[in-house]
Amino acid sequence: MPKILITDAIHEDAVEILKNVGDVEIATGLTPEELKEKIKDADAIVIRSGTKLTKEIIDVAKKLKVIARAGVGVDNVDLQAATEKGIIVVNSPDASSVSVAELTIGFMLSAARNIPQATASLKRGEWDRKSFKGVELYSKTLGIIGLGRIGQQVAKRAKAFGMNIVGYDPYIPVEVAKNMGIKLMDVNELCKVSDFITLHVPLTPKTKHIIGKEQISLMKKNAIIVNCARGGLIDENALYEALKDKKIRSAALDVFEQEPPKNNPLLTLNNVIGTPHQGASTVEAQKSAGTIVAEQVVKILNG
Ligand code: NAD
Repeated sequence: MPKILITDAIHEDAVEILKNVGDVEIATGLTPEELKEKIKDADAIVIRSGTKLTKEIIDVAKKLKVIARAGVGVDNVDLQAATEKGIIVVNSPDASSVSVAELTIGFMLSAARNIPQATASLKRGEWDRKSFKGVELYSKTLGIIGLGRIGQQVAKRAKAFGMNIVGYDPYIPVEVAKNMGIKLMDVNELCKVSDFITLHVPLTPKTKHIIGKEQISLMKKNAIIVNCARGGLIDENALYEALKDKKIRSAALDVFEQEPPKNNPLLTLNNVIGTPHQGASTVEAQKSAGTIVAEQVVKILNG
């Protein structure tokens, strides 16, 4: 029986799938030294973001055929070291798309109607029916930066709210946008015309601060900006200045340049709402992240 090592918590259904094909050992919270000891004779390892598979650790593995990352990012795996040893690395990038898209829509509605601020006020014993006047999503323009898996799921849902959708993504085929009724434009134009702006691009040298001082200065006074992608996509200093001076309406953030945020001034503003990187944190996303990679591990171990 092949040995399958699981070093971060994954969904129980995924564990069951793996138990059908191998001896499963679950060992979380390992030190690098303990991990080296356990990975030596493993045929497969299943991780999430907690386990760091450096070259030093990968080099110890004698039988490893597959590294499975339940979830999206594989920045905790030395891909070059794995490739050099012929180890296949698999992940499940689709698993959390709907969850992140739903959080995005939730943020749009929450920011539009000041739901978190009104809840906090109510719980303080206030009955303030004047301060939280909102805006509708209906017939507003939503600008989506990045029309990949998540961006497209957001577009579908925003359409159901009767929004007009514009997008910026230089890499998707024009037909894809056309078929979804999305007008493509450059990022500055998108910032000018949108009432809501949401980011769904990866963080790369090209996309770092894709929303900077210039882009924010082009936005409408009532613009609401949502970021459920990566903190570094927005220049947080420029965003803070704009929100503080009410040059734009509000921001809803799941991600921050530094996580967890330390003394981040954005979190002192009443027109900022947020969550601690919860985009993929749903029962369904965690379950499918685990089961999708477990099935890939089974295929690889079965040759
Ligand atoms: P994806 O790869 O399917 O889509 C990304 C899109 O961005 C692609 O269509 C690509 O063409 C486009 N793009 C790349 N570079 C660009 C650029 N310079 N300018 C404009 N567009 C560009 O990725 P996805 O699954 O939709 O995920 C999007 C991002 O969401 C991820 O990169 C990740 O950072 C983030 N994410 C966050 C959470 C969370 O917990 N909040 C969970 C999953 C993913």
